[in-house]
Amino acid sequence: MSSEHTVVIGAGMAGLLTAAVIGAIGRPVIVLEQDQHGGGPVPRGGVPQGRQPHVLLHRGLRVIEELLPGLRAQLVAAGGVPLDTGDLAWLGERGWAPFGTPAFELVSATRPLVEHLVRRRVAELPGVELRGNARVRGLSRTTTGPGGGWLVECFDAPPVRAGLVVDASGRSSRLPDWLARWGIEEPATTVVDAGFGYAGQMYAAPSDHLGRVAGIVMLPVPGGAPAGGVALPVEGGRWLVAAVGAGDHRPPRDQAGFDAFLARLRDPALADFTRSARALGDITVHRRTHNVRRRYDRVPHWPGGLLAVGDALCAFNPVYGQGITVAATQALLLRQTLTAGARPGWERRLMRRLHRAADLPWAIATGEDLRHTGDNPASGVDALFGRWSGEVDRLAAHGNLRAQRAMDRVYHLVGSPAGLLHPALLTAAVRGRLLGLPAPSPRPPLATGSAWPDRADAEKVPGNPPPPP
Ligand SMILES: Cc1cc2nc3c(=O)[nH]c(=O)nc-3n(C[C@H](O)[C@H](O)[C@H](O)COP(=O)(O)OP(=O)(O)OC[C@H]3O[C@@H](n4cnc5c(N)ncnc54)[C@H](O)[C@@H]3O)c2cc1C
Repeated sequence: MSSEHTVVIGAGMAGLLTAAVIGAIGRPVIVLEQDQHGGGPVPRGGVPQGRQPHVLLHRGLRVIEELLPGLRAQLVAAGGVPLDTGDLAWLGERGWAPFGTPAFELVSATRPLVEHLVRRRVAELPGVELRGNARVRGLSRTTTGPGGGWLVECFDAPPVRAGLVVDASGRSSRLPDWLARWGIEEPATTVVDAGFGYAGQMYAAPSDHLGRVAGIVMLPVPGGAPAGGVALPVEGGRWLVAAVGAGDHRPPRDQAGFDAFLARLRDPALADFTRSARALGDITVHRRTHNVRRRYDRVPHWPGGLLAVGDALCAFNPVYGQGITVAATQALLLRQTLTAGARPGWERRLMRRLHRAADLPWAIATGEDLRHTGDNPASGVDALFGRWSGEVDRLAAHGNLRAQRAMDRVYHLVGSPAGLLHPALLTAAVRGRLLGLPAPSPRPPLATGSAWPDRADAEKVPGNPPPPP
């Protein structure tokens, strides 16, 4: 084993996508994972969040396709459900989003299926070794080999020598403790915790169970009762339903409590859904949802041959569905750096870029969560931006498709927030304040709701762009 090896710690989504990049450029890489490798698409202990819904934002789908071409088709072939976000019944803070006009593609699947397919592709790459039952307990510096390197120490498994170590061990990463042994300062760490909890349950129902409606999303609204949920079709003729709430409004694990929680939401759509489908298995809860960001990029004397990616670097409140997309974007940045030819000090420069990839999602997640906790936004600019986003959201809830698409582009991390400042949106907001807004977007055609008017009605709203062909 030479110090030319890369060792990746953790075979979650960030670790696998990192290994995909390193393996694809022909470098040897060993992925050390505390769980056993090789199981099928089933939940596993090291990823306790795996039983909850995992949405792959549109940017994430595109980036993973770029890293592993053909993966989207494999996901669909394995039962992942392609859907258009414009066909989701989406209840935001200010009302229903416009329904029924094309927006962004998603492929809805369980987290174990997505991870299984990615793992299978990564395992096929020459030079990649996935080593299970290998729980890392620390790092030692070694001076042998060209330029020195690391000895990665495991519980119950032999140590592994590496020239580059990538920590992808998730939210519970122990990297700060491991580095403290070498006198390396702890990174400044920011935590924003709105105290969200999930309760998830699988249901049997075909993917067209809701007719034209592809799925249901009800966002928790700050103040009052911050509670919401989702129902999304996944592989195997199933739907994954999750109840989500913060603080005293976190959903319980028992069936009666879960049903009562859904029945108390702002709209009966999710309760109606669960009544019309057959529950499968138990309810699982998950409550580790705080945002946490470790500023390794600001640690003085950052050692060579070391990176941190994914949740180990920056983890988000999962309500916004960003974690996998950020991990994928970071893998793409690693590929750019390695293929450009790494010059001395590249690790530190790359760590800065990896952090920058987390800037926007961090601003979205913490900006919203600070509204839930009642704390002040991080800066005056954030406060102003938050107020303007609310204004754009209000336009969208009143049928303005341009506003809706601008919000979607930011939400799916495919566009910059500057898109929210389009002059047509400024004009529509002023006009709305002076003359009043058009009628709110109607409730989508859910089984118990009012009928959805023709698409032509949505196109009559002033300021709406023409529909895509
Ligand atoms: C409830 C919930 C819902 C979520 N929903 C979404 C969503 O809708 N969309 C989305 O994009 N993201 C979502 N996420 C976030 C997503 O799970 C992560 O951001 C994403 O998986 C990237 O994580 P990761 O690979 O860094 O860590 P993880 O996926 O947590 O993987 C870490 C891996 O490291 C292994 N490991 C840990 N310690 C060691 C060690 N010492 N030695 C060896 N191996 C180790 C673990 O076993 C695990 O395999 C959700 C998270 C939660 C909690």
